[in-house]
Amino acid sequence: MNFWEMIFLNVKSTGSQLIQTHRLEAPQGSFMEHVEVVLIGDGPFILFDAGYRECIPEMLSWVEARTGGVLEKLVLTHHHFDHSGGARAVCERFNVPAYAHPLEMGFLEEEQPGLPVLPIREGEFIESGDMRLEAILTPGHSPGHLSFWWEEEEILLGGDNILLPSTTALVAPKGNLGDYLDSLEKVKKLAPRLIYPGHGPVLEDPISRIDELIEHRKMRGVQYLEALDAGHDTPEKIADLVYQDLPERQKDLGARVISLYLERFVESGEVACADGRYSLTGPL
Ligand SMILES: [Zn+2]
Repeated sequence: MNFWEMIFLNVKSTGSQLIQTHRLEAPQGSFMEHVEVVLIGDGPFILFDAGYRECIPEMLSWVEARTGGVLEKLVLTHHHFDHSGGARAVCERFNVPAYAHPLEMGFLEEEQPGLPVLPIREGEFIESGDMRLEAILTPGHSPGHLSFWWEEEEILLGGDNILLPSTTALVAPKGNLGDYLDSLEKVKKLAPRLIYPGHGPVLEDPISRIDELIEHRKMRGVQYLEALDAGHDTPEKIADLVYQDLPERQKDLGARVISLYLERFVESGEVACADGRYSLTGPL
């Protein structure tokens, strides 16, 4: 085996030469430290996500340098501003439309009126040369959150669902815990070899990360039920107890996540709600 074959095999085993990523540092005060944008193909190129508005110049010059200025389309995994903030700039610079799931299009229109967005639905394909990536609807973080599955290489562009080391923010009303857990199972069934996430490094052992995330959510659920059992009867009081070491702003976010868990427990009958106060319906 010569040197170049070794390099090629190495790329084959860990990733793909047809996928390039670029990390953009988040502006000060953001929840996340950075966000990834992903370019696929070797011409025509397709860009997945466009980063923060504050990062537009850096993002555009990276895309320009890697594509020679020829981009075919922009695809948005979901509408959140850390992924779509640069969308208009990409569409204008490269004269391309953006694609997103129909459930995200309304949110995008609210936040960026007039952005040219076309629909892409579950089961439809994004193609570039020999690459065919299937759109997989993976809601929970956002109602129309899409992941993209490159079956031949068993690689998933996973958006914000499966991250390392952070966990995915689930915030009502657009976030949904049940949908999120179903999406984790859905991705687990695909059995991806690699996941390129929206934030953080490429996941090289996605299945064990998915299992960890499922366990983490279960563990949080138990913690919240125990807090309820101890008399903390609102999401805010539970957050005060469980997240006592976190700054106020993150505690507020925590309380919103806890509301999603409590809603789910109310649906399953484990918890009752009266006048905004929650209680267990039976012993833990
Ligand atoms: Zn997001």
